[in-house]
Amino acid sequence: MIREVFPVGPLACNCLIFGDETTREALVVDPGDDIEEILRRIATHALTVRSIVFTHGHIDHVGAAAALKKATGAPVYLNEHDYPTYSRIEMQAMWLGMDPPEFVDIDVPARDGDVVRAGGLEFTVLHTPGHSPGSIGLWIPSQKTLVSGDTLFRESIGRTDLPGGDPRRILVSIREKFLPLGDDTLVLPGHGPATTLGHEKRHNYFLQRLTS
Ligand SMILES: [Zn+2]
Repeated sequence: MIREVFPVGPLACNCLIFGDETTREALVVDPGDDIEEILRRIATHALTVRSIVFTHGHIDHVGAAAALKKATGAPVYLNEHDYPTYSRIEMQAMWLGMDPPEFVDIDVPARDGDVVRAGGLEFTVLHTPGHSPGSIGLWIPSQKTLVSGDTLFRESIGRTDLPGGDPRRILVSIREKFLPLGDDTLVLPGHGPATTLGHEKRHNYFLQRLTS
């Protein structure tokens, strides 16, 4: 599997590109900003983008999506419970003192259990409310890899003080949807460095109550 993880935009959201080495088909997660850099990496690997997936509807994860959809024609996925969050993108921009990004139509609702494909790669949608009502993770069984969005970070969890956030539900989501995937699961968060579920069970303060 081809994998690119790189921070984009002023809030350093991790944009992720996953590609099938044989078919050169790809899935892009959270194209938050820096469209030139995203397109450069896609071109470097000669990839055709089949899907664009938002882990949730916050501004730092979606900013370059309109340009990426125009460049690739790929459909955009977002969990329905975050449609209201995403529809308030101009208000999110105002809070942060940023220019609002161009709005993009959502093509496919990413529902819990749905499988999104790029070539031979399969990405299972895990609905994990808490950071926002429609936050999702993506599980790639063949790679034992989890895209955790802003639900789980290395030794931290996502903030739950934004509209629609829920400090109890984010822990339930982590316990029920992430931890059963196994300690050796590689976790690629929406911000910051990669980790594993085993490391988080041992060192993440927020998870101690869940695992003891
Ligand atoms: Zn967020």
